Amino acid sequence: MTPETSTQASLEFADSHCHLNYEGLADRVEDVLARMREVGVRRALNVCTTLSEAQSVLDTARAHDFLVCSVGVHPDYEDVVEPTVEELVRRGDHPKVAAVGETGLDYFRLKGDLSWQRERFRVHIRAARELGKPLIIHTRDAAEDTIAILKEEKAHEVGGVMHCFTENISVARQAVEMNFLVSLSGIVTFKNATQVHEVARELGLEHLMIETDAPFLAPVPHRGQTNEPAWVVHVAQRIADLKAVSLAEVAQWTSSNYTRFIEARLAS
Ligand SMILES: [Zn+2]
Ligand SMILES: [Zn+2]
Repeated sequence: MTPETSTQASLEFADSHCHLNYEGLADRVEDVLARMREVGVRRALNVCTTLSEAQSVLDTARAHDFLVCSVGVHPDYEDVVEPTVEELVRRGDHPKVAAVGETGLDYFRLKGDLSWQRERFRVHIRAARELGKPLIIHTRDAAEDTIAILKEEKAHEVGGVMHCFTENISVARQAVEMNFLVSLSGIVTFKNATQVHEVARELGLEHLMIETDAPFLAPVPHRGQTNEPAWVVHVAQRIADLKAVSLAEVAQWTSSNYTRFIEARLAS
Protein backbone atom coordinates (compact mmCIF):
# COMPACT_ATOMS: atom_id res chain seq x y z
CA MET A 1 0.00 0.00 0.00
CA THR A 2 1.40 3.41 -0.95
CA PRO A 3 1.40 6.20 1.66
CA GLU A 4 -1.25 7.95 -0.38
CA THR A 5 -3.76 5.10 -0.33
CA SER A 6 -3.13 4.40 3.34
CA THR A 7 -3.81 8.07 4.19
CA GLN A 8 -7.01 8.00 2.19
CA ALA A 9 -8.13 4.75 3.79
CA SER A 10 -7.91 6.38 7.21
CA LEU A 11 -10.25 9.20 6.18
CA GLU A 12 -13.97 8.96 6.78
CA PHE A 13 -16.67 10.17 4.41
CA ALA A 14 -20.46 10.22 4.41
CA ASP A 15 -22.72 10.05 1.35
CA SER A 16 -25.59 12.40 2.20
CA HIS A 17 -27.85 11.28 -0.64
CA CYS A 18 -28.18 7.97 -2.47
CA HIS A 19 -30.96 5.66 -3.68
CA LEU A 20 -29.91 2.15 -2.68
CA ASN A 21 -33.32 0.72 -3.53
CA TYR A 22 -33.23 1.90 -7.14
CA GLU A 23 -32.62 -0.39 -10.08
CA GLY A 24 -28.91 -0.87 -10.65
CA LEU A 25 -28.10 -0.91 -6.92
CA ALA A 26 -30.94 -2.80 -5.20
CA ASP A 27 -30.00 -6.23 -6.57
CA ARG A 28 -26.35 -5.94 -5.41
CA VAL A 29 -26.68 -3.66 -2.40
CA GLU A 30 -24.45 -5.74 -0.08
CA ASP A 31 -21.55 -5.56 -2.58
CA VAL A 32 -22.11 -1.84 -3.05
CA LEU A 33 -22.08 -1.24 0.70
CA ALA A 34 -18.97 -3.38 1.22
CA ARG A 35 -17.08 -1.41 -1.45
CA MET A 36 -18.27 1.85 0.04
CA ARG A 37 -16.97 0.94 3.51
CA GLU A 38 -13.66 -0.28 2.07
CA VAL A 39 -12.78 3.17 0.71
CA GLY A 40 -13.75 4.97 3.92
CA VAL A 41 -17.32 6.00 3.13
CA ARG A 42 -18.54 5.00 6.56
CA ARG A 43 -22.14 6.25 6.44
CA ALA A 44 -24.92 7.02 3.96
CA LEU A 45 -28.45 8.36 3.80
CA ASN A 46 -30.83 6.24 1.70
CA VAL A 47 -33.36 8.59 0.14
CA CYS A 48 -37.05 7.80 -0.42
CA THR A 49 -38.90 9.09 -3.51
CA THR A 50 -42.36 7.47 -3.38
CA LEU A 51 -44.60 6.10 -0.63
CA SER A 52 -44.62 2.73 -2.38
CA GLU A 53 -40.85 2.33 -1.86
CA ALA A 54 -40.84 3.84 1.66
CA GLN A 55 -40.95 0.48 3.45
CA SER A 56 -38.10 -1.07 1.43
CA VAL A 57 -36.00 2.09 1.84
CA LEU A 58 -36.53 1.84 5.60
CA ASP A 59 -35.83 -1.92 5.63
CA THR A 60 -32.47 -1.36 3.90
CA ALA A 61 -31.53 1.27 6.48
CA ARG A 62 -32.65 -0.94 9.37
CA ALA A 63 -30.42 -3.76 8.16
CA HIS A 64 -27.24 -1.67 8.65
CA ASP A 65 -26.25 0.45 11.63
CA PHE A 66 -24.30 2.84 9.38
CA LEU A 67 -27.34 3.74 7.26
CA VAL A 68 -30.27 6.05 7.87
CA CYS A 69 -33.10 6.94 5.50
CA SER A 70 -35.72 9.54 4.66
CA VAL A 71 -39.41 9.51 3.80
CA GLY A 72 -40.90 11.60 1.01
CA VAL A 73 -42.32 11.83 -2.50
CA HIS A 74 -40.12 13.30 -5.24
CA PRO A 75 -41.48 16.38 -7.08
CA ASP A 76 -40.95 14.72 -10.49
CA TYR A 77 -43.47 11.93 -9.87
CA GLU A 78 -46.97 12.83 -11.00
CA ASP A 79 -48.84 9.54 -11.01
CA VAL A 80 -48.08 8.33 -7.50
CA VAL A 81 -49.93 8.25 -4.20
CA GLU A 82 -50.06 11.82 -2.89
CA PRO A 83 -48.63 12.11 0.63
CA THR A 84 -50.53 13.80 3.44
CA VAL A 85 -48.91 15.45 6.46
CA GLU A 86 -50.33 12.67 8.66
CA GLU A 87 -48.94 9.89 6.47
CA LEU A 88 -45.46 11.44 6.35
CA VAL A 89 -45.46 12.03 10.11
CA ARG A 90 -46.60 8.46 10.78
CA ARG A 91 -43.85 7.00 8.58
CA GLY A 92 -41.25 9.55 9.67
CA ASP A 93 -41.71 8.81 13.35
CA HIS A 94 -39.02 6.12 13.38
CA PRO A 95 -35.45 6.39 14.74
CA LYS A 96 -33.98 5.29 11.39
CA VAL A 97 -35.82 8.04 9.49
CA ALA A 98 -33.46 10.99 9.75
CA ALA A 99 -35.11 13.40 7.31
CA VAL A 100 -38.17 14.28 5.22
CA GLY A 101 -37.76 14.26 1.42
CA GLU A 102 -36.68 14.37 -1.13
CA THR A 103 -39.10 17.15 -1.82
CA GLY A 104 -39.04 20.49 -3.58
CA LEU A 105 -39.74 21.94 -7.00
CA ASP A 106 -38.62 20.89 -10.47
CA TYR A 107 -39.60 23.22 -13.31
CA PHE A 108 -36.99 21.64 -15.59
CA ARG A 109 -38.47 18.15 -15.87
CA LEU A 110 -42.14 19.11 -15.66
CA LYS A 111 -44.02 21.97 -17.32
CA GLY A 112 -47.54 23.38 -17.17
CA ASP A 113 -49.59 24.00 -14.05
CA LEU A 114 -47.38 22.78 -11.23
CA SER A 115 -49.49 24.02 -8.33
CA TRP A 116 -49.79 20.37 -7.20
CA GLN A 117 -45.99 20.26 -6.91
CA ARG A 118 -45.91 23.37 -4.73
CA GLU A 119 -48.70 21.98 -2.54
CA ARG A 120 -46.85 18.64 -2.16
CA PHE A 121 -43.74 20.60 -1.17
CA ARG A 122 -45.67 22.49 1.53
CA VAL A 123 -47.05 19.20 2.89
CA HIS A 124 -43.49 17.90 3.33
CA ILE A 125 -42.34 21.03 5.13
CA ARG A 126 -45.32 20.85 7.51
CA ALA A 127 -44.58 17.18 8.23
CA ALA A 128 -40.88 17.92 8.85
CA ARG A 129 -41.78 20.68 11.31
CA GLU A 130 -44.21 18.42 13.09
CA LEU A 131 -41.57 15.67 13.33
CA GLY A 132 -38.76 18.07 14.15
CA LYS A 133 -36.64 16.48 11.42
CA PRO A 134 -34.65 18.19 8.64
CA LEU A 135 -35.70 18.46 4.98
CA ILE A 136 -33.99 17.12 1.85
CA ILE A 137 -34.68 19.64 -0.90
CA HIS A 138 -34.55 18.98 -4.64
CA THR A 139 -34.74 22.19 -6.68
CA ARG A 140 -34.24 22.60 -10.40
CA ASP A 141 -34.97 25.75 -12.43
CA ALA A 142 -37.17 26.82 -9.52
CA ALA A 143 -34.85 28.49 -7.02
CA GLU A 144 -36.98 31.58 -6.47
CA ASP A 145 -40.20 29.67 -5.68
CA THR A 146 -38.28 27.11 -3.61
CA ILE A 147 -36.78 29.80 -1.37
CA ALA A 148 -40.13 31.64 -1.14
CA ILE A 149 -42.03 28.52 -0.04
CA LEU A 150 -39.31 27.53 2.45
CA LYS A 151 -39.69 30.99 3.98
CA GLU A 152 -43.50 31.00 4.00
CA GLU A 153 -43.61 27.58 5.65
CA LYS A 154 -40.92 28.49 8.22
CA ALA A 155 -38.59 25.70 7.10
CA HIS A 156 -35.70 27.35 8.96
CA GLU A 157 -37.12 25.85 12.17
CA VAL A 158 -35.94 22.41 11.03
CA GLY A 159 -33.44 23.31 8.32
CA GLY A 160 -32.05 20.59 6.12
CA VAL A 161 -30.05 20.20 2.94
CA MET A 162 -30.25 21.54 -0.61
CA HIS A 163 -29.24 18.33 -2.36
CA CYS A 164 -27.36 18.00 -5.66
CA PHE A 165 -26.94 21.74 -5.63
CA THR A 166 -26.62 23.40 -9.06
CA GLU A 167 -27.82 26.95 -8.33
CA ASN A 168 -25.57 29.97 -7.94
CA ILE A 169 -23.69 31.19 -4.88
CA SER A 170 -26.36 33.74 -3.99
CA VAL A 171 -29.03 31.00 -3.74
CA ALA A 172 -26.56 28.93 -1.69
CA ARG A 173 -26.14 31.81 0.75
CA GLN A 174 -29.92 32.29 1.06
CA ALA A 175 -30.23 28.58 1.86
CA VAL A 176 -27.50 28.81 4.50
CA GLU A 177 -29.31 31.76 6.10
CA MET A 178 -32.35 29.53 6.46
CA ASN A 179 -30.43 26.87 8.38
CA PHE A 180 -29.73 24.66 5.34
CA LEU A 181 -26.59 22.84 4.31
CA VAL A 182 -25.57 22.64 0.65
CA SER A 183 -24.72 19.21 -0.75
CA LEU A 184 -22.58 18.86 -3.88
CA SER A 185 -22.80 15.83 -6.14
CA GLY A 186 -20.62 14.39 -8.94
CA ILE A 187 -21.62 17.41 -11.02
CA VAL A 188 -18.79 19.30 -9.29
CA THR A 189 -16.33 16.99 -11.07
CA PHE A 190 -17.69 17.96 -14.50
CA LYS A 191 -15.51 20.35 -16.43
CA ASN A 192 -18.27 22.70 -17.59
CA ALA A 193 -20.04 23.03 -14.21
CA THR A 194 -18.55 26.45 -13.54
CA GLN A 195 -21.43 27.68 -11.36
CA VAL A 196 -21.06 24.65 -9.06
CA HIS A 197 -17.29 25.17 -9.00
CA GLU A 198 -17.87 28.70 -7.77
CA VAL A 199 -20.17 27.45 -4.98
CA ALA A 200 -17.51 24.91 -3.96
CA ARG A 201 -14.86 27.63 -3.85
CA GLU A 202 -16.89 30.35 -2.16
CA LEU A 203 -19.06 28.54 0.38
CA GLY A 204 -17.35 27.65 3.67
CA LEU A 205 -16.76 23.97 4.43
CA GLU A 206 -18.95 24.37 7.52
CA HIS A 207 -21.94 24.62 5.14
CA LEU A 208 -21.12 21.74 2.76
CA MET A 209 -21.98 18.08 2.47
CA ILE A 210 -21.12 15.61 -0.28
CA GLU A 211 -23.33 13.08 -2.05
CA THR A 212 -23.50 10.71 -4.99
CA ASP A 213 -27.25 10.70 -5.81
CA ALA A 214 -26.39 7.12 -6.87
CA PRO A 215 -27.31 5.36 -9.14
CA PHE A 216 -27.31 8.66 -11.07
CA LEU A 217 -24.63 11.26 -11.84
CA ALA A 218 -21.45 9.21 -11.58
CA PRO A 219 -18.48 11.54 -11.04
CA VAL A 220 -15.38 11.75 -13.22
CA PRO A 221 -13.60 9.30 -13.81
CA HIS A 222 -16.68 7.02 -13.76
CA ARG A 223 -18.97 9.23 -15.81
CA GLY A 224 -21.71 7.28 -17.61
CA GLN A 225 -21.50 4.26 -15.27
CA THR A 226 -23.97 3.27 -12.55
CA ASN A 227 -22.98 5.50 -9.66
CA GLU A 228 -22.42 4.12 -6.15
CA PRO A 229 -21.67 5.61 -2.71
CA ALA A 230 -17.96 4.61 -2.80
CA TRP A 231 -17.41 7.24 -5.48
CA VAL A 232 -18.38 10.15 -3.24
CA VAL A 233 -14.63 10.33 -2.52
CA HIS A 234 -14.17 11.82 -6.03
CA VAL A 235 -16.63 14.57 -5.13
CA ALA A 236 -14.68 15.34 -1.96
CA GLN A 237 -11.37 15.35 -3.86
CA ARG A 238 -12.66 17.82 -6.45
CA ILE A 239 -13.93 20.16 -3.71
CA ALA A 240 -10.52 19.92 -2.00
CA ASP A 241 -8.81 20.84 -5.30
CA LEU A 242 -11.16 23.77 -5.95
CA LYS A 243 -10.68 25.10 -2.41
CA ALA A 244 -6.96 24.32 -2.34
CA VAL A 245 -7.33 22.43 0.95
CA SER A 246 -6.52 18.83 1.85
CA LEU A 247 -8.85 15.93 1.21
CA ALA A 248 -8.70 15.27 4.96
CA GLU A 249 -10.15 18.68 5.69
CA VAL A 250 -13.06 18.16 3.31
CA ALA A 251 -13.64 14.66 4.76
CA GLN A 252 -13.72 15.99 8.33
CA TRP A 253 -16.03 18.94 7.70
CA THR A 254 -18.51 17.12 5.49
CA SER A 255 -18.61 14.17 7.90
CA SER A 256 -19.24 16.34 10.94
CA ASN A 257 -21.89 18.30 9.01
CA TYR A 258 -23.53 14.97 8.16
CA THR A 259 -23.59 14.04 11.85
CA ARG A 260 -25.11 17.42 12.68
CA PHE A 261 -27.66 16.97 9.88
CA ILE A 262 -28.89 13.50 10.82
CA GLU A 263 -29.02 14.39 14.50
CA ALA A 264 -30.85 17.67 13.87
CA ARG A 265 -33.94 18.21 15.97
CA LEU A 266 -36.24 21.14 16.54
CA ALA A 267 -34.53 23.73 18.67
CA SER A 268 -37.09 23.97 21.45
ZN1 LIG B 1 -33.09 15.06 -6.43
ZN1 LIG C 1 -32.19 11.86 -5.25
